[in-house]
Parts: sequence; structure tokens; C-alpha cells
Amino acid sequence: MPRYQVTKLIDFCYGHRLLEHKGKCRYLHGHNGLLEVDIAADALNDQGMVLDFGDVRDAVKSWVDANLDHRMLLCRRDPTVPLLQGLGEPMYLMDENPTAENVAKHIFQAVRKQGVKVSEIRLWETPNSYAVYREP
Ligand SMILES: [Zn+2]
Repeated sequence: MPRYQVTKLIDFCYGHRLLEHKGKCRYLHGHNGLLEVDIAADALNDQGMVLDFGDVRDAVKSWVDANLDHRMLLCRRDPTVPLLQGLGEPMYLMDENPTAENVAKHIFQAVRKQGVKVSEIRLWETPNSYAVYREP
């Protein structure tokens, strides 16, 4: 386990619905999501940091704002997609069901693609529930 870790909190709003869900999550609804982005390291850089908090914020928040914030996060197979597309609603389409677990994975992988060595992402979907995605 690395010796140091920094965590940045980033909030955003999104809507979704889950396919094959028996409960009320099958209906379109929204969340005020809160991301906790962890970056871990065994050694600090020349400034004595794992990574500047501002750099973490810039990398993660810019991707989240451009792709997820105030959008409907939907599975490509969702029958509402053509309807919402026709109305010009902004969407983020995924191959998987847009659960908190899968959304956390998408954010993790997008941030890694930008070269930020994120170690774990927690996505709070409500004040009582969060999902974790991490890769070694
Ligand atoms: Zn939900």
C-alpha cells in the first residue's frame, strides 16, 4: 500500500435509469453525485506533493463537466435514447447499465487516459450510498 494519498472531492449532477431493475431505479431520475478521487504514491515530487490538488481538479472536473454533468447517463440499449436524442437532450451513453459502479469505472478510466494516476474513485450517489472502482 502506497505511503501517501491525496483525495479530491468533485460534485456533479446527473440523471439515469437502470434497465432490468425491479424497483424505482427503472424510472428516469436524478442524483447530486459526489466523487472522491484518490491518488496514491510511495514518494513525493520535488514540491513535496503526490500531485497538486489543482491539477487533480482540472483533470477530473474538466472531463466530468464535459461528459457527465447535467446529462442523462443511459445504456445504449435503453429505448428512451432515440426519444431523448430527438429532443436534443444531452446524454452520455454506455454499453453497460449506468449504475454508480459503472459510472465510477468510466470516470476512473477517462482520468487515467489523461495521464493522472488515480488509484481509486468513490462515487456517492446519495448521502448514504457509494460505489468504489479501483485498479491495482
Ligand atoms: Zn439512481
